[in-house]
Amino acid sequence: MSLDRARIEAAVAELLAAIGEEPGREGLQGTPARVASMYEELFGDADESPDRFLTVTFAAEHDEMVMVRDIPFASLCEHHVIPFLGKAHVAYIPSEDGRITGLSKLARVVDAYARRLQVQERMTSQIADSIERVLHPRGVLVVLEAEHLCMSMRGIRKPGSLTVTSAVRGLFRRDPRTRAEGMAFVHGSRYFPA
Ligand code: ZN
Repeated sequence: MSLDRARIEAAVAELLAAIGEEPGREGLQGTPARVASMYEELFGDADESPDRFLTVTFAAEHDEMVMVRDIPFASLCEHHVIPFLGKAHVAYIPSEDGRITGLSKLARVVDAYARRLQVQERMTSQIADSIERVLHPRGVLVVLEAEHLCMSMRGIRKPGSLTVTSAVRGLFRRDPRTRAEGMAFVHGSRYFPA
């Protein structure tokens, strides 16, 4: 994705004028440039394929579930272009060869799919599909819990309400016991209390 800084700055200046602001007033003078920098940061590597984070694997002969829970993320709702923020829980059951990926790599995949205009449902599926495509695991479970500022600040105005989405593949989909085990991990007692 190519990002056109000058165009963003012009568009933000136009938006400020359109909502009745005075783009020249002191507090707003640097705003178009700051917003352009923010978008550069938020969408900076949006065109890179998140799959690449998972391609380095280790032989661990581990054939049971691996879960990384409470991965914080921040993304932008594509319907309103304001944030939704929350936590991702990502689990997989390694393929028969027992190869695993780095734990931090799962968090990187979450980050990569957050760094674009999103809807939570699609982001959930994309994370699961990436893990399935690269690791060929026997099962994948992805759960996202997020607060959408477009529901907190506007519309029905319900701050604090969480939207929960899940994507289940393979054993987590086929085997109710495996799925129950995965969901128990998601909701399990916290070793580190909040
Ligand atoms: Zn929205």
